[in-house]
Amino acid sequence: MCDSTFPVWFLSVLFLTMSGCQQKAPSFYSLNDFYKVPKTDVHFHYNSTDGRFLQFADSVKFRIVSPNVDSGRSPEEQLAVSMELKRQYPERFAFLGTFSVNHYGTPGFADTIISVINQDMQAGASGIKIWKNIGMVLKDSAGRFVMADDPAFAPVFSYLEKNNIPLMAHLGEPRNCWLPLEEMTLGNDHRYFSNHPEYHMYLHPEAPSYEDQINARDTLLQRYPGIRFTGAHLASLEWNIGEQALRLDKYPQLDMDMSARIGHLQYQSLKDYDKVRNFLIKYSDRIMYGTDGSVSPGDTVYGKVTRRLERGWLSHWVYLATDSVITVDDLGGKQVKGLKLPAAVIDKIYNKNAEKFFTK
Ligand SMILES: [Zn+2]
Repeated sequence: MCDSTFPVWFLSVLFLTMSGCQQKAPSFYSLNDFYKVPKTDVHFHYNSTDGRFLQFADSVKFRIVSPNVDSGRSPEEQLAVSMELKRQYPERFAFLGTFSVNHYGTPGFADTIISVINQDMQAGASGIKIWKNIGMVLKDSAGRFVMADDPAFAPVFSYLEKNNIPLMAHLGEPRNCWLPLEEMTLGNDHRYFSNHPEYHMYLHPEAPSYEDQINARDTLLQRYPGIRFTGAHLASLEWNIGEQALRLDKYPQLDMDMSARIGHLQYQSLKDYDKVRNFLIKYSDRIMYGTDGSVSPGDTVYGKVTRRLERGWLSHWVYLATDSVITVDDLGGKQVKGLKLPAAVIDKIYNKNAEKFFTK
């Protein structure tokens, strides 16, 4: 009897110990964990009804939040695409609606916007996105730039606040936008503003300054403490994590996405690795992963698009989750060491903080 019961007892203890081990969350993730860990890209412009790339995203455990933008195709056309994707992939896809501001200065300006917002929300939007055209393009009849804190928008923001509708705001631009091309700190900023001189504010000294843009946005945060507010692109404070921390401390309703600005974190971590790492750990409930990537109707070659997506997502994972060294082209080929954020921090930045866009 003794001989046969001992191994059974021993095996069951071993089994319990092993299953306990398996349930324990890892302290850090590896490169390969990229394919296993649930993730969300909260700033990805999915502008095509071709759902194959959403399926690909799903296969590497990504959900997508697609913010519509008051630029290019009309908000209505973008909404139609988003509705179709939401219908097909309700668990994997969320979108933010948007509205045109072209009718600024006409009677009923705010009411028209509010009715568009209602349409968006009824169509399944998880919130509303506003864009840099407010502050950088839109002008009043006297030719003055209209900023985000313009009184004409007040009823709109009050409405969002009252109805608990999340807002993602891309206001202003990276500070590089106000510098000459040769002084810009990142290759992608240099490229973007070379290709878009209309948005390169260094060339438009008559337009509002960087500080004007930031101040207008901060005024909104001050006035509407009840709006769940995502500052897109590190709230246009990408160049200095200290400036980001100041706003996060001052405005509890604020969170940020890091889309299209991860290079700025890398630039800063090259100079002070611990400071950037500690910042992301301290504010891990308030920062979300995003890329500003896109899929457009012209993206039809499956392998080409999925390779591009995987390469981009993986390189960010290496930087944020591991301590491997990567070569960053946008930093002139500099070698950047990964931050190896704790797994619990990665889970929040990469997924949990994005939950608000999926639970309505
Ligand atoms: Zn974007």
